[in-house]
Amino acid sequence: MNKPIVVQKYGGSSVASIEKLRTVARLIVEKKRAGYDVVAVVSAMGDTTDELLERAHALAPTPDRRELDMLLSAGERIAMSLLAIAIRAEGFDAVSLTGSQSGIITTANHAQARIMEVRPFRVQDELERDRIVIVAGYQGVSYTRDVTTLGRGGSDTTAVALAAALDAEACEIFSDVDGVYTSDPRVVQGTQSMPAIGYEEMQALAEAGARVLNAEAVEFARNRGIAIYARKTSSSHPGTVIRRDVPKAPSGVRGIAFEARVGWITGPTPEGSRLAELLEGVRQLGGRIRHIHRSADAHGGARQASSEDTLCLLVGLDEVVDEGPLQALADRTLGAGSYWPSRGAVSLVGEGVVSDPNPLLNALETLKRGAIAVDGIASSSFRITLITMGNRVAEAANLLHHALGLDRPETEAQL
Ligand code: ASP
Ligand code: MG
Repeated sequence: MNKPIVVQKYGGSSVASIEKLRTVARLIVEKKRAGYDVVAVVSAMGDTTDELLERAHALAPTPDRRELDMLLSAGERIAMSLLAIAIRAEGFDAVSLTGSQSGIITTANHAQARIMEVRPFRVQDELERDRIVIVAGYQGVSYTRDVTTLGRGGSDTTAVALAAALDAEACEIFSDVDGVYTSDPRVVQGTQSMPAIGYEEMQALAEAGARVLNAEAVEFARNRGIAIYARKTSSSHPGTVIRRDVPKAPSGVRGIAFEARVGWITGPTPEGSRLAELLEGVRQLGGRIRHIHRSADAHGGARQASSEDTLCLLVGLDEVVDEGPLQALADRTLGAGSYWPSRGAVSLVGEGVVSDPNPLLNALETLKRGAIAVDGIASSSFRITLITMGNRVAEAANLLHHALGLDRPETEAQL
């Protein structure tokens, strides 16, 4: 009879040393002993990915992306083979496989490839032989047969995609924090761990800067209805389950995410070719457009002067090292002063956070009292994002977390 399959993922900090690899090997073996078929996805050890990136950037300001993917995928290969060696040393049969060997087929968009299909035949064959399968996270192979990577934090996506393809009973994501918190516990006081959170809320938190889970992985899980368990390695804390049908947060806000750096661009809406220059330029400079908004003045039903027809863009800067070129692009296409430099963002996330006026009004009042200027507001159905100076973002997150009651103990705030 087939055993139930569990897909586990261990993050970079959980495999950062030989000692930690040994610990993870023992945890995996324990799961195997408990009667499961285990597939373990690993990230690169510690800061390996950053170190590899630094080396490439020392050789060229914008390294070739195909070669970069080849290089970065090596980080996970080191971790996977060492882990397989460690498991074998525990007396269990294990085999490590690259993303390509595991059948992770992606688009050809280097550094930001999306998984198109998973053909996990080799993984299934190895499980059939009663082996523990270790898979290199964060990578795949494009249909044009090049090695690709899935974007930072992409090992989560590998794990969820494999869990879906293997029809696994559970997908467990292990890291150095015990689940999902109401905000980043390293920066914000009094954060509470959540027992459960819905897919959309988790996705909104991740997109707004929470590093605990990769946004695309959550989207994948949501599409396939896979429950994700976010847990701390070697801890008995139950962690957080990400699933559907989670009761709403009583205050309307489930959590607060923030980013120290975002691009905020506002100016008179440009015509066709300059609009194209702006939007394409942002992408070429590595910016990720997260929100576009245009408003024309409607008084009297007639269109007013073009200066009142305004375009706003919120741009993610994860892959942008220097804001200078973005600023120059905005100045050129929208006019001088349309780029707000050194801005950051704080987001309130929760189901219904936009339709209920209270969270926004409370937040604006709180920031005003804290003398933190709000330079813009953007929203999506599960998120309200407030643009502030980047160097005030941590303070803003602390003030809002407290004002919205998210620092109350779990039982009250998280039902
Ligand atoms: N090693 C990659 C990164 O640091 C992928 C991952 O950790 O999931 O982004
Ligand atoms: Mg990593």
